[in-house]
Amino acid sequence: MVMAPPRGRLTVITGPSGVGKGTLVAALRQRQPSIWLSISATTRSPRSGERDGAHYFFLGRDDFDQRVAAGGLLEWAEFAGHCYGTPRQPVQEQLDAGRPVLLEIELEGARQVRHSFPEGFQIFIKPPSFEELERRIRGRGTDSDEAIRRRLERAQVELEAEGEFDAVLVNGDLSAGVTDLERLMGLAPAPSLLP
Ligand code: ADP
Ligand code: 5GP
Repeated sequence: MVMAPPRGRLTVITGPSGVGKGTLVAALRQRQPSIWLSISATTRSPRSGERDGAHYFFLGRDDFDQRVAAGGLLEWAEFAGHCYGTPRQPVQEQLDAGRPVLLEIELEGARQVRHSFPEGFQIFIKPPSFEELERRIRGRGTDSDEAIRRRLERAQVELEAEGEFDAVLVNGDLSAGVTDLERLMGLAPAPSLLP
């Protein structure tokens, strides 16, 4: 008899822009290469160093709307004046193949995934303080003053939603944050890269 592989587990990571989600996820993937990270579609322009198909699929608004209409996105939302969404098919394929799947998305999208995948595990990342969040967004140096204002406004709203999540992780010390993520995702801790 041919056995189907056990289905993988879906983890959703959410938290205000600039809290360090991308940084945490990149560090986690270095330690846990089995994790499959979904690549989202977005209508925003690439930042310097971002590549189409690697960081995002960068789409025009018409193309994005067509994918929504065709049911090709598992979830989607507007954020700071642009659309973002998760392509449905690759997520299904990876889960069916038994891999741990990670979505790094904003709050509205996380709420949609909670309906379509109630068995998924949802983690909210929060900053040590609002002042530190602002410092991180400004320090990243990728957003205009107007974009920073929109992101901070949205962050005020998102921070009120932590109670909806299965777990809350404060991203203070980065390496402690990565270890916490590993634990929350039920992954065996990777051996430390430090001597
Ligand atoms: P997000 O993906 O949530 O928008 P980023 O990963 O881009 O956030 O991080 C925003 C900024 O904060 C970056 O400049 C990053 O280097 C910095 N950062 C991330 N995590 C930490 C941390 N634990 N301590 C200090 N700075 C951090
Ligand atoms: P950024 O422009 O900084 O890359 O992302 C802005 C916000 O969009 C972040 O909070 C990020 O988590 C979120 N985001 C990225 N991809 C998706 C997605 O596919 N769906 C949703 N709902 N949000 C996303």
